[in-house]
Amino acid sequence: MLDTFGRRVEYLRVSVTDKCNLRCTYCMPMEGMPWMRRDELLTYEEITSIVRIMAGMGLRRVRITGGEPLVRRDLPELVSMLKGIPGIDDLSLSTNAVLLEEHARALRDAGIDRVNVSLDSLRAERVEAIARRPGSFPRIMAGLDAAEAAGFAPLKINVVLIRGVNDDEIEDFAAITRERPWHVRFIELMPTGSNLDLSARQFFSCTEALRRLRAVEELEPVEGPPGNGPATYHRFPGAPGTVGAITPMSHNYCDRCNRMRLTADGHLRPCLFGELQTNLRDPLRAGADIVPFIDETLRIKPERHHLVQGSDAGSGGLVALSQTGG
Ligand code: SAM
Ligand code: SF4
Repeated sequence: MLDTFGRRVEYLRVSVTDKCNLRCTYCMPMEGMPWMRRDELLTYEEITSIVRIMAGMGLRRVRITGGEPLVRRDLPELVSMLKGIPGIDDLSLSTNAVLLEEHARALRDAGIDRVNVSLDSLRAERVEAIARRPGSFPRIMAGLDAAEAAGFAPLKINVVLIRGVNDDEIEDFAAITRERPWHVRFIELMPTGSNLDLSARQFFSCTEALRRLRAVEELEPVEGPPGNGPATYHRFPGAPGTVGAITPMSHNYCDRCNRMRLTADGHLRPCLFGELQTNLRDPLRAGADIVPFIDETLRIKPERHHLVQGSDAGSGGLVALSQTGG
């Protein structure tokens, strides 16, 4: 699947739900969102059909995301169904880990190859304040342990940087990579309709984070773990893990974009931001050939996102990343 800018699209992020058991301050409003109706959601069979068709067109990797994917019932069933699709050679999951302790083993057995966990602080009270969910921290920690025990090592940990909230933990997060083979990835906060104040006032760039780490010790650039995402990776000399930087705001990496997104209600999005999306669900349910719709989405894939710091101008009306899978 080549787009009009010569980028090869081989990676699909599949959102299985827009719901979540947390309310991260940078992601979702406290009161939640107008949730999608159940009959609007793609069934596991429909998701599998779309992925099978796209695999025939060159799709190679799938990441299951949300909302929080583990709040959707029987997720391992979907994993087994996707695992059986010829051509898909990498199946991964993004989760907040709250429910991972219960599900890690079944997900591994069903065929998940890799897991990314979102963890924005190492301190219980901070995690629970960011997530707006008291009691979530011990469950997340148990989820991380269960993931490692189930064989998901090395884990990737995603940390959204928020000035004045967790930027004093950059060195602590990086220190973990000296002890464990984890890949800690700092993510720049992106503006959406529900976080404009936060993203305008408390943005913290990865450039500043890496500068702080280099003051501790020199970092060497490294290849990074499999997954081919937008992160650039660095390592303290001799450390088993790496530090990654995901810089949608300070260093646009759209020229390397290799992905599209399938929303939980069956819209194929060529870019995380913007208004462009194609309804695959209705033609699929009507028994139509969806290949022309996928081709058209590829054709309209924009050259880059147009996010503006502190404004929702470029987000295309997106209120929360939980709507699209992040
Ligand atoms: N619930 C799962 C989780 O938190 O990992 C999967 C969905 S979440 C939308 C996917 C990723 O998007 C997470 O790593 C989260 O931290 C990140 N994210 C959400 N809103 C963001 C924002 N406004 N800017 C940057 N990253 C964001
Ligand atoms: Fe939920 Fe993930 Fe959004 Fe946090 S970042 S509210 S865990 S979807």
